[in-house]
Amino acid sequence: MQQAAAPKVSFVSLGCPKALVDSERIITRLRAEGYELARKHDGADIVIVNTCGFLDSAKQESLGAIGEAMAENGKVIVTGCMGAEPEQIEAAYPGVLSISGPQQYESVLEAVHRALPPVHNPHLDLVPPQGVKLTPRHYAYLKISEGCNNRCSFCIIPKLRGDLVSRSANDVLREAERLVAAGVKELLVISQDTSAYGVDVKYAESPWKDRQVRAKFFDLAKELGDLGAWVRLQYVYPYPHVDEVIGLMTEGKILPYLDIPFQHASPDVLKAMKRPAAQEKTLARIKKWRAECPDLTLRSTFIVGFPGETDSDFAYLLDWLEEAEIDRLGCFKYEPVAGAASNAIGNAVPDEIKQERWNALMARQQKISARRLKRKVGTRQQIIVDEVGPTVAKGRSKADAPQIDGAVYLCSRRPLKVGEIVTAKIERSDQYDLHGSVAGF
Ligand code: SF4
Repeated sequence: MQQAAAPKVSFVSLGCPKALVDSERIITRLRAEGYELARKHDGADIVIVNTCGFLDSAKQESLGAIGEAMAENGKVIVTGCMGAEPEQIEAAYPGVLSISGPQQYESVLEAVHRALPPVHNPHLDLVPPQGVKLTPRHYAYLKISEGCNNRCSFCIIPKLRGDLVSRSANDVLREAERLVAAGVKELLVISQDTSAYGVDVKYAESPWKDRQVRAKFFDLAKELGDLGAWVRLQYVYPYPHVDEVIGLMTEGKILPYLDIPFQHASPDVLKAMKRPAAQEKTLARIKKWRAECPDLTLRSTFIVGFPGETDSDFAYLLDWLEEAEIDRLGCFKYEPVAGAASNAIGNAVPDEIKQERWNALMARQQKISARRLKRKVGTRQQIIVDEVGPTVAKGRSKADAPQIDGAVYLCSRRPLKVGEIVTAKIERSDQYDLHGSVAGF
């Protein structure tokens, strides 16, 4: 009997790493059921668009992607953050087959089954045990919880994704172990608020190997650190218990890297933003962390032009940045998001002032980054190789997260392989990147 052709799905994944993990889960399920991924919309039987609804500009990008899929294919399923408020999508594209919100994997699969029933072949195991990863094979995002208990005034994520729901420690560790066994060399731990992990389940223990492991930030980081891969913590808030993981960094168990989205430094703005852990004495904490772990790299994001931000709030932020020496930084100009509490604050900052502040902050950061990177010239660093070219390879040190931070450009006498970790001598630095040559394999 002739085998029916596998139904083909084209997938568009927009938004943050958390949305990427949702996409991976949907694709893993579809592949397990015998669906194939298509490279283009017009060669596919159906298109799934995983949208982002964080800012209005992200919504526009999502609507654009849906429009493209409608024009090129016509059979379109929409999911993700923007799907939590479907009115705008329904108005623009009444023909879409189904709209669901973030993490609603079942709704997406049901919609696919309705429009394109799976071809059943129980003899084929189409999915590798670690699932399907959209990131390169040598690094993977590990999502430890969904949702968020905070209520930052500019953010609608808790409305879209609900309150914090943590995975059990053994569930996360099993996934991490499978990924490492499949060749993943770097695990990027993500969630909306990584340091709040386990609060919702009262840090419940679960059995792992010969012991019980608590669903707690420190305990999980420690166990992950034993798996033999680089472990990078992202989206951490400066709660007091974060101090404990610095010891794991000093011991070399996890990477000396923290991604802490501070968003601002001025106490008044932080209060208006309703940021978690805003009252903690962050500058003193950062100094203490650095004294304990001199290699610590700090990455952060900031918002300029938040309603009511004064010249002196902004000057405070610039001074703070100088003292904190944040290594890596992303900056956004405040945008009102439909449904966010900050819309009611008033005192909007005019667009030209937002732009001026953005320029000033980025210029200041460029200097700090260049200064910090210069200290690395002459040192030896371990580098994970991301891309190889004919003469130069592009990689990252322990201080660089993929996609968002700088790179290390490497010369080597022997060809390098993607995913390999080598030792390099750093010879030169510029504002955001390092350059060096391989000194050991
Ligand atoms: S911590 Fe704040 S900004 Fe982050 S998801 Fe939660 S509410 Fe939004």
